[in-house]
Amino acid sequence: MKPFKIERSRGKDTICHIKYSCLKPYQINFFKENKLVKRNAIEDDRFLQIVLRIVEYETHYKDHLKLYYNNYTKGVSSYDEILEDAKMLDWKCCICDCEIKSEIGNFEIVNFLCSDCFKAYGKQKMVDERILDSSVNFRYFCQRVLLKQQKGHMQYLKVFETSKKIKKSKSLY
Ligand SMILES: [Zn+2]
Repeated sequence: MKPFKIERSRGKDTICHIKYSCLKPYQINFFKENKLVKRNAIEDDRFLQIVLRIVEYETHYKDHLKLYYNNYTKGVSSYDEILEDAKMLDWKCCICDCEIKSEIGNFEIVNFLCSDCFKAYGKQKMVDERILDSSVNFRYFCQRVLLKQQKGHMQYLKVFETSKKIKKSKSLY
């Protein structure tokens, strides 16, 4: 990480003698909320660099280093891995019928074959009809999954809205 460019000033629109113009809103908030660092931040540039580095880390990277329960693999994964797994749907290899994971919205040949069948069928010039059929069916399947997710989301919003209304009406008494 490069050092942060800091312009010092004692004038207006500054915090800890740093010009607002060279700080991002979350950095300004940090200095507002953490008054204890003020004296060192004013006097010590090296201290300031370290503090800004920690703020950067806390703001942008922390969630990506945490581990979460992964409902798709029933194990523990990083946030990015869960996002990747969320894109994968249960599907069947269109040649040997074994279970595979296919990526939602991906219509490349490799998405419809297990690794063995891909070696045998994936690189032929004429695309096997079973692969084409599988890709058409997969398109419908993806649409149904997305629609279901959308409905689930709408239902969730409805529940959320009604619970808000209930809370509001209760607060009238
Ligand atoms: Zn196969």
